[in-house]
Amino acid sequence: MNLLDSVESLKGIGPKTAATLQKFGIKTVRDFLYNLPRDYENYQYYVPIAEIKPGKVVVRGKISNLKNRNTTRRNLTITEGVVTDASGALRVIWFNQKYRVNQFSADKEYLFTGNYEFKNGRYQLTTPSATLAPEIEATSSDLAPIYVAHGSIKSLDYKRLIENSKAIFNEIPDLLPSVPKNTRKNALFDAHFADTPEKAKTARDYLAYEELFELILAAKLNKKENEKLKSDKIPINLDKIKEFVAGLPFELTGAQKKASYEIFRDMEKGVPMNRLLQGDVGSGKTMVAAMAAYEAILGGHQVAFLAPTAILATQHYENIGRTLSKYGVKTALLIGSTKNKDKLKKLIKDGTVNLIVGTHALLTDDTEFSNLGLVIIDEQHRFGVEQRQKLLLKSPEGLAPHLLAMTATPIPRSLQLTIFGDLDVSILNELPKGRQPIETKIVPELEIQEKIYPEIAKTTENGQQVYWICRTIDEDSRIETISVKKRYEKLKQLFPKCKVDFLHGRMKPAEKDGIMGRFAEGEVQILVSTTVVEVGVDVPNASLMIIEDAEGYGLAQLHQLRGRVGRGTVASFCYLITSEGTKPTKRLKELEKSNDGFHLAEVDLSIRGPGEIYGALQHGALDLRIATLADTKLIHKAGEDVNAFLENPDNMLKYKELMASIARYQQITTLN
Ligand code: ADP
Ligand code: MG
Repeated sequence: MNLLDSVESLKGIGPKTAATLQKFGIKTVRDFLYNLPRDYENYQYYVPIAEIKPGKVVVRGKISNLKNRNTTRRNLTITEGVVTDASGALRVIWFNQKYRVNQFSADKEYLFTGNYEFKNGRYQLTTPSATLAPEIEATSSDLAPIYVAHGSIKSLDYKRLIENSKAIFNEIPDLLPSVPKNTRKNALFDAHFADTPEKAKTARDYLAYEELFELILAAKLNKKENEKLKSDKIPINLDKIKEFVAGLPFELTGAQKKASYEIFRDMEKGVPMNRLLQGDVGSGKTMVAAMAAYEAILGGHQVAFLAPTAILATQHYENIGRTLSKYGVKTALLIGSTKNKDKLKKLIKDGTVNLIVGTHALLTDDTEFSNLGLVIIDEQHRFGVEQRQKLLLKSPEGLAPHLLAMTATPIPRSLQLTIFGDLDVSILNELPKGRQPIETKIVPELEIQEKIYPEIAKTTENGQQVYWICRTIDEDSRIETISVKKRYEKLKQLFPKCKVDFLHGRMKPAEKDGIMGRFAEGEVQILVSTTVVEVGVDVPNASLMIIEDAEGYGLAQLHQLRGRVGRGTVASFCYLITSEGTKPTKRLKELEKSNDGFHLAEVDLSIRGPGEIYGALQHGALDLRIATLADTKLIHKAGEDVNAFLENPDNMLKYKELMASIARYQQITTLN
């Protein structure tokens, strides 16, 4: 067996199954084995209904009294039933899953796994998964792995496929130099077949370590590779930059000065800059980018500035374009809806345009540059690897452009060095003068009318604007929540004097831009939206942010959303609405206390603790599948071990599979 063979070489996987798996990125035996369970169900530990406590639970019983009803308030179909075991009975509830009424036989026993919670005045088991008890118990004595569904291949199917391949685990060679206490084959085996939660955790820790080792090794090797590349040297033009800074309507923060100086120093070196600018929301990253761009243009180069959405690209184009045009810089915007693209592309190709701001539309093969020297990427994690690579291929022969990536997702300082071994990092940890801190408060759903509506009235009467964030666009079958559309209708009714509008990710880009544009112009006072407003849009006149069902978001995301307000000079407020029956989490309380994104990132790490399967803190330059940034100890250990590994040059030749395997990370983290 070779780990790089096609999955089709495995017993029990025919061409059809292989094709389905391949569609989901599972191409090789390795991919197949490393597709670990998303979670494990502990059916052994189902509890008697009489002893059940709030939280995630498993119960085993028969179900009766099933019926569907419609709610008018939220326009949901609710399926209700009663689960009974020897000790008692329990109400279960599903949303918009009508088929549930016909799913069950009254005389059979099922295992129900779901959240037991207090809602609307009573206890209930919400949207449980349900499986015939004997069926599960026959296939798994203890711990049952749950796999993410891959099209028609559902969790139980994947489990069967893995079981069919049990024999090959024995042949798996270790990937890394000796790691204490475990082997790769044991870890992989236990990740799929562990019979206790402890074993599963040990296995995952091993594999997380392996993943981190690869990632960090790739990062360190990237740095070495990068140092071999050449870029044009861009001399520091202090006089012009001073003139530019003096012309700004505000004073730069110390952090902005320091970051721009670090960038200038990088660009004068002749080796491509590979720098990440991390700054909390509102810290003024764009101005630093503008200075970098100006500097490169003064040195005779073109600059490409990529933003993740057309709205943001347009905003950057207007801001930076306006600021730099005074100094003779020619700026152009290239997005999907740009007219006369061919004409513009000619001007880019012949070098007439100095700064091109755009979205993915910038990346098509027919956009050619005359002398691309600097690439700036805003919110880099929104771009795929291939797209970044494409841009980097557009500079003159033999030269790599300098690269500046910007992000508002703070990586905890404690991890930065290890994780970003290949990137230089500048940090904006200071807010511009005159900013008022955002006041944050947790408000239970039941108090919306009494506490929130008056705030909206006050804010809009003062000529300020409001964001209201909802979790779903329409009604969702899994979570009971008020959607964007519902909330929009409601607010429109309640505030007839205001212009209310809504925004979500399923709208066409042009439609989104139109609405966001009207909000930015102040024509819309209240904007109801999903988290699409999360990235970057700057509307300083918005001073009130309401986040409904706040307990459903990660800390980083809440902080990011909150950063949409507090960008002007008036006091701003953020209300975190918790839904009925939930207690404010530690996360929300921390958010109430602090406005500092870096501090919150550290807190987030400590709250989560290692081992949690959680993706919200993932970062663009990272593609962690098993490990998370919360695995601090593992990260540090892997960092030390990589250093030891690199001290012996023979290792590079000796660990062939490892070196081949990290190539995929090198693709991701190599920015040049
Ligand atoms: P972010 O870091 O979130 O991208 P922006 O670059 O959008 O932040 O800046 C937020 C706002 O602050 C913008 O309106 C910008 O013009 C303004 N700004 C930037 N730097 C300063 C400064 N030093 N003093 C005052 N305002 C500033
Ligand atoms: Mg920004």
